[in-house]
Amino acid sequence: MNSHENSTSETSRQAVRADERPDLRSVHVHEDVARTGRCGNVHLATGRTCILPERHHGSCDFVGPDDANGLTE
Ligand SMILES: [Zn+2]
Repeated sequence: MNSHENSTSETSRQAVRADERPDLRSVHVHEDVARTGRCGNVHLATGRTCILPERHHGSCDFVGPDDANGLTE
């Protein structure tokens, strides 16, 4: 009688990522910098990295690779 309960729909759940923000689509995150608790957003046009604290207020402050690498050593 209740044989219909065997059909599951688990496979479609992983398709949605709640943390994917459309406004960050064009922004790459520098993982090494982000791991230190920094913003880590990379400005693709210049290759510079934001080293402000994670979830900082206002816009990103991008610095050159020398400053960004100094944080991760
Ligand atoms: Zn930032």
